[in-house]
Amino acid sequence: MSSLQYKALKGMQDILPPDIYLWQKVEAVAREVFSSYGFQEIRPPVVESTNVFTRSIGENTDIVEKEMYTFTDKGDRSISLRPEGTASVVRCYVEKNLHTLPSPQKFYYAGPMFRYERPQSGRFRQFYQIGVEAFGDDSPRMDAEVISMLRHCLERLGLKEVTFNVNSIGCAECRPAYKEKLIEFFAGGLDTLCPDCNRRYSSNPLRILDCKVERCKDMRQGVPKVTDSLCSGCRTHFDSLLSFLELLGVSYTVNPDMVRGLDYYTRTTFEVTSENLGAQNAVAAGGRYDRLVKEFGGPETPAIGFAMGMERIVELLKNTVAHAFPTPDVFLAVIGDMAARESMVIADRLRGKGLWAELGDSGNSLKSQMRKADRLSSKYVFIIGDDELKSGRLKWKKLSDSSHGEISMFEITDFLQKSSS
Ligand SMILES: [Zn+2]
Ligand SMILES: [Zn+2]
Repeated sequence: MSSLQYKALKGMQDILPPDIYLWQKVEAVAREVFSSYGFQEIRPPVVESTNVFTRSIGENTDIVEKEMYTFTDKGDRSISLRPEGTASVVRCYVEKNLHTLPSPQKFYYAGPMFRYERPQSGRFRQFYQIGVEAFGDDSPRMDAEVISMLRHCLERLGLKEVTFNVNSIGCAECRPAYKEKLIEFFAGGLDTLCPDCNRRYSSNPLRILDCKVERCKDMRQGVPKVTDSLCSGCRTHFDSLLSFLELLGVSYTVNPDMVRGLDYYTRTTFEVTSENLGAQNAVAAGGRYDRLVKEFGGPETPAIGFAMGMERIVELLKNTVAHAFPTPDVFLAVIGDMAARESMVIADRLRGKGLWAELGDSGNSLKSQMRKADRLSSKYVFIIGDDELKSGRLKWKKLSDSSHGEISMFEITDFLQKSSS
């Protein structure tokens, strides 16, 4: 006999009950909160031409250099699984001329992303994000609105012990001068910086500030702060954002080291972190990208967005918030052949009314059916046998407190609907 074993790919996971209920909860809360801010769902494809990502994310980023799932399809085209959501949404915004609609246009998306990374705790090769993108408004009011929306989303989920890190990384006008300062600052320490940072030094020195390698962190003692190099436009924008966050009651920390790993950001960047996670402690992150739409061939259009990492938010929910998972409304314990037929009809009718009904197997003893009801954590058990069919009255038992009683067959639906509402 062959013993071929099938396994999920490395870094890919199955999401099963009861965890799936947490996933659904996060998705439902996000949809509700985003909708109240006027964000509408958009569903771009999971696969795009590779250049959609290389163009936007940047040739010299880890994502594009090492982590993309890139293939040649049967038509000899280079295609890639999306490693993040923003590039596809921007491609769609430009291609479908959404800029001709009244501004701002506000969208959200949810779904799997793919990166060929070394799997580690909290990191997967297929991972899920829910993200938002707002186009056509360069005011810091929009930045504050988007950040506050994220705050409400996390609060509604019960996640309170999180930190909002905010920063401004400047614009095309002021960032070159800051890059020069960094190049000067790190020039003497190239032997100490890790190989990645040595590459970053020539491609995008800002990203040295993001490096998690200890000796690179040590090298950053006294590094010039980006917030000290902002031009007056960026300075005013950032100061206004901070004052709007105060106005809306969002507590934040200005974190000048937080530059984000993607090339397309301008001005505002932000990241929400939690103390209750391990090394991968960011649960959501985003920023402004005022030049990206133009780079995709669209008109000059300011934009801002963020993405939440589903795996980490679910992990946080599991660790810090108590949950009740759905359980059956009723378990029908069945004795005898007649009752077996009748209980099929009853269960079917209850299910038609939206109640979760589980049906016992009349071939098993009442005792073993009761055990099964218990294992399923059913709210109620009804017992249906020949006597009950004759009298038209059923015995019920509530498993949480062992209370019990009798009702007429015709009242079952009402009884369960009342007690489940
Ligand atoms: Zn600037
Ligand atoms: Zn480094």
